[in-house]
Amino acid sequence: MSGLVIFGTRPEAIKLAPMVANIRGAQPAIDIGVVCTGQHAEIMTQTLNALDLVVDENLNLMQRDQTPMEVVERTIVSLTERYASERPDWVLVQGDTATAFAGALFGYLGESTVIHLEAGLRTHDIHEPWPEEGFRQEIARLAGLHLAPYPCARENLLNEGIEPDSIQVIGNSGLDSQDGMLAQIADDDTAWLPNGDFVLVTLHRRENLGERLEATCRELISTLDAYPDLQILWPVHPNPKVRSTAFEFFGDRKDRVMLSEPLDYPKFLHAQRAAKFVVSDSGGVQEEAASLGTRVAIVREKTERPDAVDLGLTRIVGADATGLVDAVNDFMATPVDPVSVAKWRALQGNGNAGAAAATALLNKIEADQAVRQRA
Ligand code: UDP
Repeated sequence: MSGLVIFGTRPEAIKLAPMVANIRGAQPAIDIGVVCTGQHAEIMTQTLNALDLVVDENLNLMQRDQTPMEVVERTIVSLTERYASERPDWVLVQGDTATAFAGALFGYLGESTVIHLEAGLRTHDIHEPWPEEGFRQEIARLAGLHLAPYPCARENLLNEGIEPDSIQVIGNSGLDSQDGMLAQIADDDTAWLPNGDFVLVTLHRRENLGERLEATCRELISTLDAYPDLQILWPVHPNPKVRSTAFEFFGDRKDRVMLSEPLDYPKFLHAQRAAKFVVSDSGGVQEEAASLGTRVAIVREKTERPDAVDLGLTRIVGADATGLVDAVNDFMATPVDPVSVAKWRALQGNGNAGAAAATALLNKIEADQAVRQRA
């Protein structure tokens, strides 16, 4: 049985790496190819090196100012030219990117079993986040095995009529990567961080660019005004629209705002752990920071990770951050509850999700093989 693992962005690599390591270590050995579409070329190499994730082929499809439509088109064409004749038995994709959607469609049309890691996350609004919510809903229609990170993701899939036997709750493999990485790096490698209390900022969602991002920058300035000892560390996403806004608002605030290039994954984990709190519109950062005991102001209208909100570890402040100052006042006044952090880690599988995901995949392909042999 041969399989293809298809990914294109940094968060996909982080979440696939523990599962791929377990599949590659399986006995008897499985024939797999790991393919990177290169959707995030600039920030991928550092992540792959940090994770020890060996890629068999990089399709190098990235182009400047690419749209999701162009990524989907180029990925389908390239995968078809390169891999359709190999007819993989299964195709594994992760999450909700253009690459994941195109990879799932390629697998479905080629009659491979589509396996979806991080299945079932939903805001139930196809415009928030855009286009990720649409992509993940569509991947669910095509997948034969849904690997859900938390029980609420399973509920979402059941509510959409997905066959219960095709869903397994395996935890969040991002937590495996995070724990593995933190175990390898020195705790005292922090000289590069701002001195004193700081807020870690990451903002990049497409639907938040423009006016919403500018409004968020104004709320960040209000936060700095309200807390004169607080600084900001903002590793700025490579998207030119994010860069121009970040530098327009904070380029001359070097006294209190450190705008940096995207950080490599180990450094970014350090920064999340050391930060007073995080301000972000990211999906993965909501999970990671909360697992590290740092609260997150979510700069969005909706989140697909409601458990962390219910545990008091994350809080939605709106896509234009109108709720930021209230959230900051609370974050500054009250300590993080360690019981909530432990509950959040337990919900995500306590660092064993990669092994559970690989076992679920191996069981599925064995079952598929038995069906093919009987046919
Ligand atoms: N990340 C990183 N360096 C950075 C910012 C983020 O390594 O400067 C990692 C972070 O640790 C997390 C992932 O990138 O695992 C989140 O990716 P992103 O916010 O781009 O995407 P999302 O999770 O929203 O899909």
